[in-house]
Amino acid sequence: MEFSSKLLEKAVNEMAQLPGIGKRTSLRLVLHLLKQPKEHTGFLVQALTSMREEVKFCVSCHNISDVAVCEICSNTKRDHQIICVVEDIRDVMAIENTGQFRGIYHVLGGKISPIDGVGPSQLNINSLVEKVKTGNVSEIIFALSSTMEGDTTNFYIFKQIQDCDIITSTIARGISVGDELEYADEVTLGRSILQRVPFEKSFKG
Ligand SMILES: [Zn+2]
Repeated sequence: MEFSSKLLEKAVNEMAQLPGIGKRTSLRLVLHLLKQPKEHTGFLVQALTSMREEVKFCVSCHNISDVAVCEICSNTKRDHQIICVVEDIRDVMAIENTGQFRGIYHVLGGKISPIDGVGPSQLNINSLVEKVKTGNVSEIIFALSSTMEGDTTNFYIFKQIQDCDIITSTIARGISVGDELEYADEVTLGRSILQRVPFEKSFKG
């Protein structure tokens, strides 16, 4: 791609670093910004900068939050004894949208994946195990995708908490969760949370 301006080229190259955005799309977006009033670009830059600078991770569940303890964790009307284990914030959003879950979450930040070099220590697993060992948890619900990495992660966590006196369940299998929990429709996802099954039964037999 030949550019008549180094400034334009730099902007296009930066934008093209984003996933799913090739050089052509990047050029289209940058030219769009050039046609808009200058302040529109300012708002975009400001929003991205503040988000990057100021966003926090909840000290309790590791969800993305504007404050130290997220709104879900600080809500006293929710059942703090039931913890739903998810991969990332998109899963929290998807489950919240169903309106069927009144417990709290624990965001792992990914799945164990040796191929991608992601081991248990890079995920928020220890804090979950510690939370369970405090004795204030009655149930852990695994809501990771039913992929090999999801299964490995569930099993790894299960092994560490299986001696604790809690219920361990998984959102109903057979329902198409796939790799993209956030794309499962709300009704299906809501039902799968209500009809969760004991974790032991999900891999035995
Ligand atoms: Zn939280």
